[in-house]
Amino acid sequence: MRTQRGVSFILLLQLSLYCSSIAADDQSEIISRFQSYLRIDTAHPNPDYHAAADFINAQAKSLSLESQTIEFVVGKPLVLLKWPGKRRDLPSILLNSHTDVVPAEHGKWSLHPFGAEVDASGRIFARGSQDMKCVGMQYLEAIRKLKSSGFEPVRDVYLSFVPDEEIGGHDGAEKLAHSDLFKQLNVGIVLDEGLASPDANYRVFYAERSPMWTVIKAVGAPGHGAKLYDNTAMENLLKSIESVRKFRESQFDMVKAGLKAEGEVVSVNMVFLKAGTPSPTGFVMNLQPSEAEAGFDIRVPPIYDQASLEKRIAEEWAPAARNMTFYGIFFPLTEEISLEGHLH
Ligand SMILES: [Zn+2]
Repeated sequence: MRTQRGVSFILLLQLSLYCSSIAADDQSEIISRFQSYLRIDTAHPNPDYHAAADFINAQAKSLSLESQTIEFVVGKPLVLLKWPGKRRDLPSILLNSHTDVVPAEHGKWSLHPFGAEVDASGRIFARGSQDMKCVGMQYLEAIRKLKSSGFEPVRDVYLSFVPDEEIGGHDGAEKLAHSDLFKQLNVGIVLDEGLASPDANYRVFYAERSPMWTVIKAVGAPGHGAKLYDNTAMENLLKSIESVRKFRESQFDMVKAGLKAEGEVVSVNMVFLKAGTPSPTGFVMNLQPSEAEAGFDIRVPPIYDQASLEKRIAEEWAPAARNMTFYGIFFPLTEEISLEGHLH
């Protein structure tokens, strides 16, 4: 582990040294290549993956990197580039980035989210400019600079540009990681996603919170809107939401008090509420609905005990005693909880 970290820091040091010596005319070319990448609309739910793959392959060609485009799933190309090193026997370095971006609500942007316009102070506006097309381009530009200086890497350096990271990565990085091809790469260390840096410092992160996207659902007898009775779906869901809110507050309070960093606490954010009986003019106002559900984007730091959180979900946020169930999206629950048959 120590050796692997050493490799990454040396590589980053080299990248930053070369990058800080870029001449002004090179800068505009670098920015214009970055803009070209940003202008490819790879937002979900219909990312233009082929355009992104074409762009990356064109970059690879201009850098004389070996390239292969793999569709583990048809229509979702993954581009793998290789910069051969001098010592083929050593484990390689993999620089990973994803080509897809989250959707953009065009109406809420003052500039087009795929226009990649630069303002007077040099800021570039585009969906994906931070997460994480900037990183993919940094890798390519660093290689361009290193190559032009005659640098040859000791180890093989691979670059993977993967699809579908924003929706779980199952058809992208996950397929790659389980492939025979991946075994052949003999990867010693992977540099993946961090946070974009607003200055010349490149921060290295060595852990990331895992998503535990969770939906809780309450069911109960439907009833007249004028009547008070126990165990309605809405009432039970509201109790849970309040419980989730308190937990969220307890985590956030530790960050606010400076006791923990943001990455060290569990973040919970409610992302949807689904309830009500639709009517032609909105919702039926005098009926208590028989079903209600809420979705949460939960992120769990590696140091946190995930099983205890699952227990909390099962016992406090979606207890069977309140006619509630829950299920996870894109994360494996521990066996213990799955066996309770409490899941969909
Ligand atoms: Zn990302």
